[in-house]
Amino acid sequence: MSIVETVEVKSASKQTTDFLSAQHKLVIGGTAALSTTGETFQTFDPALGKVLTSVPHAKQADVDAAVAAAQAAQPVWQRMAPSERAALLLRFADLIERDTAWISEIESLDSGKPKLHIAAVDIPLGVGALRYNAGWCTKLAGETIPVSSPDMHVYTRREPVGVVAAIVPWNFPLCQACFKIAPALAAGCTVILKPAEQTPLSALILGKLALEAGIPPGVLNVLTGEGATTGQALVEHPGVAKISFTGSEEVGKHIARSASKTLKHVSLELGGKNPNIIFADCDVEAAASVAAGAIFFYSGQVCSAGSRLMVDAAVYDRVVDRVVSEAKQLKLGHGLNADTTMGPLISEDQLARVNGFVEQSRKGGIEVAIGGNRGKGDLASGSFYEPTVLCGADDSASVVREEIFGPVLTIQKFNSLDDLVPRANNSNFGLAAGIWTRDISKAHAAAAAIQAGTIWINTYNQFDAAVGWGGFKQSGYGKDNGREGLDKYLQTKTVWVNYGS
Ligand code: NAD
Repeated sequence: MSIVETVEVKSASKQTTDFLSAQHKLVIGGTAALSTTGETFQTFDPALGKVLTSVPHAKQADVDAAVAAAQAAQPVWQRMAPSERAALLLRFADLIERDTAWISEIESLDSGKPKLHIAAVDIPLGVGALRYNAGWCTKLAGETIPVSSPDMHVYTRREPVGVVAAIVPWNFPLCQACFKIAPALAAGCTVILKPAEQTPLSALILGKLALEAGIPPGVLNVLTGEGATTGQALVEHPGVAKISFTGSEEVGKHIARSASKTLKHVSLELGGKNPNIIFADCDVEAAASVAAGAIFFYSGQVCSAGSRLMVDAAVYDRVVDRVVSEAKQLKLGHGLNADTTMGPLISEDQLARVNGFVEQSRKGGIEVAIGGNRGKGDLASGSFYEPTVLCGADDSASVVREEIFGPVLTIQKFNSLDDLVPRANNSNFGLAAGIWTRDISKAHAAAAAIQAGTIWINTYNQFDAAVGWGGFKQSGYGKDNGREGLDKYLQTKTVWVNYGS
């Protein structure tokens, strides 16, 4: 395996080192504040296993203050001229784009992901969401409804739902935050952003940049803290109208139960165990190459990862060979190194979980075609895990059924479309799927039959702010992005006017 077993960290920019050495503060009502209890928690560089910095741990009093600030700012933000609200969102997007270089460094240090990928993928997606949704500010039209009662004029107004708590995971911290902030602010809601405890830093940057853009104090508040305390307090707070959540299935279900006590609006973007399907009539080499990227991108810590590769038996060996050869080309290393193509897992806990699945597979007689170990040599001090390919698992194996959230791919054979479809759908999840074929009829038939919120045909992992993203089944409900991503932050008010004498 040609994985370079050294971790060479190039020095970060001055802006990055200045930011890391500063005292970090919550953003509440436009003011930078320590936690009322003074408590903090550490965030780590997972590539080196070292502490990066500490951030405030927001507790109940901080949550109360943030909700009060968001409630106070809401009428002002809602009533602001839509064109002005749009201009502020565009300015916010420009500032994030301006700071791409050092924000990518911070996000890379905090999450372990390659800096170049963050600059090329995460930040443009986040900026794109702000720009796309800025366009909606001036287009939130209601309708007039022709009713049968005489002399009645009925119209609707599209109004913001109120204060939104945006709770996001560690795998795409800035980008997931923007997927929620952008439509919520465009709709006229105010927001409290709670990043994951593993990756709190880019959210704090977003809070500051929103203020620099001129977004009024209290419109975007940022609380760093743990899920069970800060997150749970937001979910239970009667002043929060909506929870927009991206994260695990387990926490999503818990949030839905907790939020039902105050009948909050809830949207859930949860996990996936996504089938990526290669028919023999496609460009097999291209499909296998993209399939490797679909699982190893961000070390497989991606909800849409193509983690279940299902291959027509006629081309199975070719696909396995190509995927293994792509895995050999990956260069594991620190995310700040320009030649790193795969970073570490987010934490030792995550590594232990991933390795547990692989060990269980080994014991069950599943072939490990490549990988299956933590990084060695210099990589051993970080949470690195080798790109791993497992062959010959049957459909009931836990590696085929459960979301591993690591660089572990199962490759299975199928014999026909009829054999494939029930097996591809045999999952609690339904987030995304890939289909590779040159036969247009087969492509459309499979796209219609596969139970997933997104289908990619002869491509994989395509995203756009204009296109809704969200799952079927236990991958959650409510889309991010696109028109549907905006609608979930709006509620419709009906107005009846008697114009008779
Ligand atoms: P997680 O569910 O552990 O945590 C997500 C967020 O929820 C974090 O901010 C966490 O602090 C918070 N949280 C935890 N307990 C909470 C509680 N009781 N109340 C309120 N908030 C709470 O998920 P994770 O490990 O950070 O992320 C990985 C998961 O996210 C994977 O399952 C992945 O598939 C999923 N994900 C889904 C999408 C999607 O678009 N569908 C995108 C990215 C990640």
